[in-house]
Amino acid sequence: MSVPVIEARGVRKRFGDHDVLRGIDLSVGTHEVVVLIGASGSGKSTLLKTMNLIENIDDGQIFLVGEDITDPRVDADGVRARIGVVFQHFNLFPHLTVLDNVTLAAVRVHGMRKAEARAKARELLETLGLGAKADEYPDRLSGGQQQRVAIVRAVLTQPEVLLLDEITSALDPQLVGEVLDLVRELKRQGATIVMATHEMSFAREVADRIVFLEHGVVVEQGPPSQVFDAPQEAATAEFLARVR
Ligand code: ADP
Ligand code: MG
Repeated sequence: MSVPVIEARGVRKRFGDHDVLRGIDLSVGTHEVVVLIGASGSGKSTLLKTMNLIENIDDGQIFLVGEDITDPRVDADGVRARIGVVFQHFNLFPHLTVLDNVTLAAVRVHGMRKAEARAKARELLETLGLGAKADEYPDRLSGGQQQRVAIVRAVLTQPEVLLLDEITSALDPQLVGEVLDLVRELKRQGATIVMATHEMSFAREVADRIVFLEHGVVVEQGPPSQVFDAPQEAATAEFLARVR
């Protein structure tokens, strides 16, 4: 078997006296789409943040393509440059055009040449239906368009893994579809994705594997058909009954 793209081993995280992640093991393979589900507060966002080194961990290890990125000697910025991240709130810079938002990190962090970054960004925006928006400012875009721009920014430099945290939960319902379409397209292109979402029907459709978290523990994981239709654990069944 090939080396996992990203792998958590025995990851523990505590805030004060609150154990938020209590020994998470999770391994994600190339081109795999893993969807984290679980109640609010179960630790999904914290897990994604530890994978991007936004939060440090108290115990365990996280590997990116075999390299222990939780080793204190590691170059955290170098690691983050290999991981694409999109959060609930789009975090586009209001004073920069779409094109400048999309290319800023590619140029500043990745050292991509400006002309190359701009050409690639225009092409990507074009193929993703945002070509006409390249020179607009974010406030001229709908929430769904802004979130798609944030995703384009995250994938411009071809990250090894994409971490998506509730990327549709700040959007009006009618704007959710266009963002999910983009995730479908990235999956089709072979992206490796770890995503937290409340969109259960989308999770079922797009996930290769569903991971159910409760109180910082992976209670159950498996293909969507198994986890959704024949959960092995009572806690999973109870959670699904509440959200469906
Ligand atoms: P989820 O994304 O599944 O809703 P989170 O990972 O955001 O869960 O949160 C898990 C738990 O950790 C929650 O109880 C939350 O209040 C707590 N938590 C998250 N971030 C912090 C923080 N920076 N400081 C203190 N507690 C936090
Ligand atoms: Mg969260």
